[in-house]
Parts: sequence; structure tokens; C-alpha cells
Amino acid sequence: MSLVTLRTLLDHAQKNEYAIPAFNINFLEQAAAVIDAAIEANSPAIIQLSSGGVNYAPQWFYRGLYAYAKQAPIPVCIHRDHTYEYAEFLEALNSGLFTSIMIDGSITKSGLPRSFNENVKITQSAIKLAQEKGISIEGELGCLGALDSGASGEEDGHKASRLLTQSELLTDPEEARLFVQKTKVDALAVAIGTSHGAYKFSKPPTEQLLSIAQVKKIHAAIPEQHLVLHGCSSVDTATLKSINHHGGQIKETYGVPVASICEAIPFGVRKVNIDTDLRLACTEKIRKYLCQNPEQFDPRNYLAASQEAMQKLCVDRYLSFGSQGQAQNIMSQLDEAITA
Ligand SMILES: [Zn+2]
Repeated sequence: MSLVTLRTLLDHAQKNEYAIPAFNINFLEQAAAVIDAAIEANSPAIIQLSSGGVNYAPQWFYRGLYAYAKQAPIPVCIHRDHTYEYAEFLEALNSGLFTSIMIDGSITKSGLPRSFNENVKITQSAIKLAQEKGISIEGELGCLGALDSGASGEEDGHKASRLLTQSELLTDPEEARLFVQKTKVDALAVAIGTSHGAYKFSKPPTEQLLSIAQVKKIHAAIPEQHLVLHGCSSVDTATLKSINHHGGQIKETYGVPVASICEAIPFGVRKVNIDTDLRLACTEKIRKYLCQNPEQFDPRNYLAASQEAMQKLCVDRYLSFGSQGQAQNIMSQLDEAITA
């Protein structure tokens, strides 16, 4: 069985000093791209579904994905990204579709930042139930958003209902220590200036906009804790240019450079969330394919081309973050645990 919890994967990543990209998926070609890329790179895979993902595809699709992941030749974690309210968390837990769930207590469903104590409380309640079911929990402290403007990026229509303050936008190391002590989350998402969506930065980010120094401070305060970075698409300039060249109209924007993520990996970052990059890779390929092959109308042709582009992007990230080659090591470890 190769369906595993987030904790299993991140413990291995910590011991062997690498990170795993966690890709959001919504449809068949995306899911296949992530898993096939992981098989190609011999990497563990984290597939995650946001509320938008859960609502987009029918449940039978996810049940099929779950069944496939169970017998995949690599370890797979199926993670529920961002549940904001307890009821939403319970629904994810009771669906039986996930080996890990995020309870994002940093902000409410309506976009209002929660206090530290409120965040601790909702996270503690989630942890208690998750432990009974043997699944992992990711919590979040700090709110995602731009350090210069205070605006939060949008994820599936969800964003902060007001501008955020600097103290909300940067996770405080001492608060992080207390939060982890009180909640015992398996993974902690931290805020360092990244945002959801394509529009993260209006220029290539410097340390003032993307604080890798903050990751280092948080890691120094909680060296054993697995950290998660959200909103880590790199928003490749050449991909944007090609989309616009083939009829798209995407405004100038910049993402998180892969090199910046790699700089943070030695400081406890074990899970790196990527959504927008897959959407961009998919759109670029479909636009280009249809422009270059105007006589084509069989979706299997352009969807296969888009799947190939997404798979290439996933392989690139598995290689960059150091998770390539680790799948079999984890599988052997699991076999030993079963036979012990
Ligand atoms: Zn997120």
C-alpha cells in the first residue's frame, strides 16, 4: 500500500534534507501529470485538493484517484488544502478521501483574520479528531499576502476581507513556537510574503517582498518542525509571454523563484505548494497547440499535449527540491515497518 500520511513523507524529507512539491489538482490530466511525473522521477507525491477542486470534479473521480494511489508504485499523500471552518474540516475528514487535511485557522471562510488564541483553539479541535483517524494535520500561522501593499492573493475566490498588517503577513517565530507547542501540528504553513494566484509580485521579488530570512528565524525557533510554504508558483515569464503571444491577455506579474525556494529548504521547509504554475503550463500548451494546429478539434490531442507540459513542470520541481529518487527509499522503509 502506498497511500501515506503527510507526516510519513515529511519525516523522511526532514531526515534526508529535501522538500516535496504539493500540487493542486482539479481534473484528470493534472492528476495524471503529477503522478506520472513522480513515477518518472521516483519521487513521493503530494496531491492536494482545495475547496474549488473538491467542488469542480465529481466525488467518483476522487474515489478513483484514491483507489489508484493505494496501489501506485510510489508513495502518495492525498491532502485537503485549506479548510477554514470546523464544519468544512469535518466534511473532509468524514469523506475518507484524505490522508492529510489542512485546518487553516489563520483566517475565517469570510476572510477575517483570526486571533492567535482562536487559531490555536480550532486547530486543537481538528488535531484531536485527526489523530483518532490516523491522518496528518497542517496548520497555518500568519496570513498570505503582499508585504508591500498588504493585499492578499485570491485562492478559489477566497481572500482576506481587508488589507493585512505587517505582523499578520509575517509569521512571528516566538508565536510559531507557542503555536506548535499547543497544537502539535504535523506541518506548519508560515507567511513570508507569498500569495495565492498568479499575481504575487509586481516586480521580481527581493528580500523585502519575499522574506527567506523569516523562514530562517522561524526554523531557529522550532528546528524540528516541518514548515510549509504556500503560493510557491514561479510564474515563468516565458510561459506568460507565450500565452499572450497566442491570444492570451495576462498582465505582467512575477512569482517565487525556484532558487528562493531552494534557499529555504535547508531551514525546515518540507512541503511547497504549487497550483498556478500547472494552470499556466496547461493553458500555454493548449493555446499554442490550437494556434499551430487550427484544423484540430480532438480534445485528446491538445489535452495530451497539456498533460505532457504539466508533467515536465512537475519533474522539474521534484528534481529542484531534491525529492527525486526518494520514493523507493520510503517504500522500503514502509515495507520494513510492516514486516517488523
Ligand atoms: Zn494555500
